[in-house]
Amino acid sequence: MERFDVFVVGGGAAGSEVAFRLSEHGGLRVALAEREGLGGECNLWGCVPTKALLRSAAIAAAARDAERFGVRTGPVTIDLRAIQRRAREVIEAQSGEGAAPFERIGVRVFLQEARLVAPGRIELADGTVVAADAVVLATGTRPVLPPIPGLADGPVWTNREAIWEPDAPPTSLAILGAGAIGLEFAQFYARMGTRVTVLEALPRVAPAEDEAVSAVVREALEAEGVRAVVGARVAAARWNEGAWRLELDGAPPVVAERLLAATGRRPTFEGHDLAAVGLELDERGRPIVTETLRTTAERVWVAGDATGELLFTHVANHEAQVVVDDLLGRPRPRDLRVVPRVTFTDPEIASVGLTEQQAREQGRDLLVAELAMADNERAQIDGRTRGLVKLVADRATGELLGGHVVAAEAGAMIHEVVAAMAGGTPPRVLADAIHAYPTLSESLKGAFGALAAELA
Ligand code: NAD
Repeated sequence: MERFDVFVVGGGAAGSEVAFRLSEHGGLRVALAEREGLGGECNLWGCVPTKALLRSAAIAAAARDAERFGVRTGPVTIDLRAIQRRAREVIEAQSGEGAAPFERIGVRVFLQEARLVAPGRIELADGTVVAADAVVLATGTRPVLPPIPGLADGPVWTNREAIWEPDAPPTSLAILGAGAIGLEFAQFYARMGTRVTVLEALPRVAPAEDEAVSAVVREALEAEGVRAVVGARVAAARWNEGAWRLELDGAPPVVAERLLAATGRRPTFEGHDLAAVGLELDERGRPIVTETLRTTAERVWVAGDATGELLFTHVANHEAQVVVDDLLGRPRPRDLRVVPRVTFTDPEIASVGLTEQQAREQGRDLLVAELAMADNERAQIDGRTRGLVKLVADRATGELLGGHVVAAEAGAMIHEVVAAMAGGTPPRVLADAIHAYPTLSESLKGAFGALAAELA
C-alpha cells in the first residue's frame, strides 16, 4: 500500500495552498486529490469568473453612462457568450496548467474522488487504498436550497449555472437571497438587461452588513432597476412552461424566466466515513475544531470553506498556513480577529470587524463616525458619489471595532481600516497621517479625524 505523510482532499484554494506550502519544506510525501477541477469553487465557479463578469457589466454600465462624461457611444449590446469566454480565459491564465504545477514540486495528484474510510486510510474512486499519516479535508461547501415546496420541480440556478449556462441574458430573473452571491448576480444581470427581482427573507439587503450600508446598497440596485423585496416569505414555487412563479406570503407573486438560489452554503463531507474516524460535526454541520484546525478525528485537519465559517479565499489561505504550521510541529492559533469582507457590486461593499448594531449588542458605549462619499472631492470628480465610510470605536478605550465602506474602490480602501485594527493604531495617528489628494481614502482620514476629535 502506498504511504503519504500528508493526504490533502480537495484542490481548491485551501487544499492547494496546504500542498504548496508543505512541499516547500522538502522531504514530505504529499498527495492531493480533486474530483471536479483543480482551483475549486473560487477559481472555477466563484470569485474569479464572477469578477470577470462584473467587469464586463461595469463596462456596459459605463458605456451607457458615457454621454454624461462627454463621450458618445453607439447603442450598447451584450454578447454573453463573449463575456463568458473572457472569464474562461482569465481562469485558464491563472490555473490552466492543471496538475503540472503541483507535480513540478513533487506533490502527487489524484484527479478523482478520495474518501477517508478509516483512520489513516484513503480510498480513491478507482478502488486504490492508500495510507496517510495525516489528512487535511479541504472539501469546501455546497449550496443550501431553502425548503420551499415546488423548488425541486424545475431548474434552479446556483452560482455555477448563473455564470456558465445561459447563451443570452434571460428576460427576467428572480434571486433568492440578498447576500454576497445574490447581490453580485443581481447587478450583473440587471446590467445585462435582465429584469431582476431579489427576494430576501431578512428585513434588508446585505443583512450581514451595517444597516447604513444596506440602505445605500438597496438604493444603488434600485437605481439600476433591480426590484428588492425584503422580509420576503416564499411560500411555494411553481415551474410551468419555461417560467417560475413564486407565491409570496402577503405580497403579489413573482414570475421570472430563471431562478437563482443564493441562500447560503454548507460544508460537505459526504463519502467520508466520519463515524469510523471519529470526526464530529456540530448541529449546523460544521466540523468541531481546535485553534489549529484539528478535528475530533486523530490527525485529521480541516481548512477553508469546509470549516463552515467565513467562506473567503483569503481566510482559506490563512487557515492553510495554520494547518501547515501545526503539521510541521510549530502550532500557532487561527486568528480571525481582523477579516475583511468585500462584495464586488458597484459601488463595492467592504467591511471589517463589527457593525454598529453588533457592537451595541455587546453593550459597548460607542463612538461612530460616518461620512458620505458625496462629500469626497475625488468621488465628485469621478461622478461616483454614492456611498459612505463608517467607523465604529469603543468610546472608553478608543479601540477601533469596525469599519464599513461603500464606494467605487471600497475593496482597496478597507485595508487602511484593516491595518489600523491589526496594528491597534489609535484613530489620531491615521487622522494626522497625510493622505493623498484627491483620493477616495481622504474620507477615511476624515472619519478617523471625527473619532479622534471625540476621543481627545
Ligand atoms: P449568504 O449567507 O451571504 O446570503 C444568503 C442570504 O439568503 C441571507 O441573507 C439569507 O437571509 C437569505 N435567505 C435564506 N433563505 C432564504 C429564503 N428562503 N428566501 C429569501 N432569502 C433567504 O450566502 P450566499 O450569498 O449564498 O453566499 C454563500 C457564501 O459564499 C457566503 O458565505 C459568502 O460570504 C460567500 N461569498 C462571498 C463572496 C465575496 O466575498 N464577494 C461572493 C460570493 C459568495
